[in-house]
Amino acid sequence: MQAIQTKTSQTIRCPNCGCLAERHYLLNQQTIQTQCPSCDYLMVTCSRTGNVVEAYAPGISAPKWVGIQAVV
Ligand SMILES: [Zn+2]
Repeated sequence: MQAIQTKTSQTIRCPNCGCLAERHYLLNQQTIQTQCPSCDYLMVTCSRTGNVVEAYAPGISAPKWVGIQAVV
């Protein structure tokens, strides 16, 4: 049996390198922050609009992020 967790972070797979990364839900700032300690991947999205606020990933250039944002 599992208790309902109020934790606002979860472990995910890094979309950049595939290692374990962490996703934090910053409720006060209405943002979702995903960061990977292995490759310095960082993405901050707005939980309200889904827009990418900030994104950084080694080996991934900015235009690709613009494309993702346009799809969303
Ligand atoms: Zn990574």
